[in-house]
Order: sequence, then structure tokens, then C-alpha cells
Amino acid sequence: MPDDNGPQRVIALNQTRHPRSKMDLSTAPLPIREYEPMERHTSWRAGGVARYYAEAGTRAEALALAAWVRNHALPLVWVGRGTNLLVRDAGYPGLVAVYRAQQWRIDEHGDTAVLAVEAGAPMAGLARRLAAMGWAGLEWAEGLPGAVGGAVVGNAGCYGGDTAHVLLSAEVLVDDVVEIWPVERLAYGYRASALKEAPVAPGALPPLVLSATFRLTRDDPARLMASMQRIAAERKRKTPAGSSCGSVFKNPPGDSAGRLIERAGLKGRQAGGAIISPIHANYIVNTGGATAADILALIDLARSEVLRQFGVALELEVCVL
Ligand SMILES: Cc1cc2nc3c(=O)[nH]c(=O)nc-3n(C[C@H](O)[C@H](O)[C@H](O)COP(=O)(O)OP(=O)(O)OC[C@H]3O[C@@H](n4cnc5c(N)ncnc54)[C@H](O)[C@@H]3O)c2cc1C
Repeated sequence: MPDDNGPQRVIALNQTRHPRSKMDLSTAPLPIREYEPMERHTSWRAGGVARYYAEAGTRAEALALAAWVRNHALPLVWVGRGTNLLVRDAGYPGLVAVYRAQQWRIDEHGDTAVLAVEAGAPMAGLARRLAAMGWAGLEWAEGLPGAVGGAVVGNAGCYGGDTAHVLLSAEVLVDDVVEIWPVERLAYGYRASALKEAPVAPGALPPLVLSATFRLTRDDPARLMASMQRIAAERKRKTPAGSSCGSVFKNPPGDSAGRLIERAGLKGRQAGGAIISPIHANYIVNTGGATAADILALIDLARSEVLRQFGVALELEVCVL
């Protein structure tokens, strides 16, 4: 399968970080699993194995893990809930590290507040708790799969809101330095950010979003909960059932990727266990036993047919590892 899905969407292996021999895992600060099937950790329920896999439950664990990886010339990728991620069937030869820290606190200033939240917190659960407390800002994220870190990296958005419009800053581990990135530095665009696009320097570690701050405003909890119920109902109506990663492609300017794929006659097309959803053509659903190659075959088919028929080059929203 060629790597032609748009270079900025593909998380390339950092060739300068290759372990020369089998790792001595006894020195690691956290338990590290070997040959972990990533289908267990991605919402597509498909894909290859991670040669090494670890879960950092706290900020301290993440910092310790990063320091250990730095000393072991090991390729590394930080992930959240795996709801925007596809790992190729060949697997990932380095360490897939999940960041799970999810503490949060609110600093109130009258009718406004600043939420500080660790990047492993689930977006939708957080949004619901805040709404119940009468804080508006994240209610658009009702039902949004994934954690805060993934939303910060990908500028997740839906139902009239997105991360870029409420984020104040992100705390980012860049190699061994913790930096505060004001929202401007993230250079947000539609499902794009400086963190998502930036290549990792040779020999450096990929950045880890440790936490983020968001702007909140006081609102009526009943009104917020009613608005979220409407969003939940609409999401339920529009989302195809089954394992997926949500929208596969970004919408091209002024158009919809789903509409173009549907017009290309591809709704319902199958490859192995994967299908272009007959309900929403920008979703590829794993109907059971799909491989990453099945999914990538449908991605290639959609891209080549939409390009051939309409001259539009679709860009991946999902990250391919
Ligand atoms: C059914 C369904 C519906 C969806 N609907 C929407 C929608 O309406 N709108 C929308 O925007 N998205 C949607 N998505 C996609 C997905 O929910 C978002 O992209 C989400 O923000 C991904 O978060 P995650 O924690 O799962 O990230 P992952 O999939 O784990 O990672 C995504 C990318 O972020 C990086 N990353 C994750 N966490 C960190 C971190 N802490 N530090 C550094 N890098 C990190 C990873 O390396 C990877 O490149 C949907 C997905 C599904 C399955």
C-alpha cells in the first residue's frame, strides 16, 4: 500500500530513533507490554501490533517514560483514545504510549472561569460534567469520542463549536522541556494545528500535550443540558453504527467529503471486512474482522474516484501510523 494519503496525515517513523538490540524493559519506569494488538486501543478495532505499548496514568509517569525513551533511541508516538487513528497491519516498531492523566480544576472569576484539564480526560464526559455545573464552553463536544489531547492536536469540532475557539493554552512536553503554548502558537485551522502538522526533528521525541486550559462562561445548567440532548439525538441519528473513526476525510472547501464520495457511487463499497457506510459515505465501518489494509483500500478508492470524477483531492482527517 503506497504512503500517498497526504504526508501530513501520516505519522512517519522517525528513522533516527531505532533500538539497536532488544530493549531491557526492566529499567523502564512503567510496565511495558510487547506486541500489543492496537485493534484493542483504536475505535476502528483494526490494525497491527505495537512492538511496545505503555499507559502513563499520571503526568509524572509520562515525564519518566519520555526520559526513559529518550535514552533508548526508541521511536515513540503518544496517543489518546485512538478514535482518530489507524495503525497499519505491519504494526508500529516503536513504543505506542497512551496518556491517561485526567485531573481537572476550575478557577472561577465571577461569570467566567478557566478550566485546567489534563490531556487524558474524555472530552464528552468533561463537557457533560461542566454543563451540569452551569459552565458553558464545551457543550458542543457532547458525544465527541476521544480525549482532550487528541482534540487539542486535531482541533476537534462539531455542532457549531471547536477546540480552537475555547482553548486558551496547552501545556506541551517538547523533548525534555515543558512549554506553555498560547492558542496562537497552535496555528489552528480546520482539523489542523501546528502540533498535528509539525515534523519531529531528527532524534527528538514527538511533543506530548500534558494539559490544556479552556475559557468557560456561566450559563443555565438546564439550558445547557437541553442543548446537549439535542446534539446527542442528532449525533445518534447521523452516526453509522459499528466500529469507525468518525469522518475519514476532511471536508474540502465549500463541499462535503461524504457528498462527493456518495456522488462517486461508492456508498456501500466493501473491501474485506470494511465498508463505506451506506448511511454516511465519509465513514468507513469495520463490519467485523477488517484489516488496516481493507480500510486503506477503501480510502484509496474514495480518493482516486473523487479525484478522477470531480477533480477534488481529498485530504485525510484520520491519522495513519
Ligand atoms: C464515531 C466517531 C465520531 C466522531 N465525531 C467527530 C466529530 O464530530 N468531530 C471531530 O472533530 N472528530 C470526531 N471524531 C474523531 C475523534 O473523536 C477526534 O479526532 C478526537 O479528538 C481524537 O481524540 P483521541 O484521544 O481519540 O486521539 P487519538 O486518536 O488517540 O490520536 C489522534 C492524534 O492525536 C495525537 N495525540 C493524541 N493525544 C495526544 C497527546 N496527549 N499529546 C500529543 N499527541 C496526541 C496522536 O498521536 C494522533 O496523531 C469522531 C470519531 C468517532 C469514532
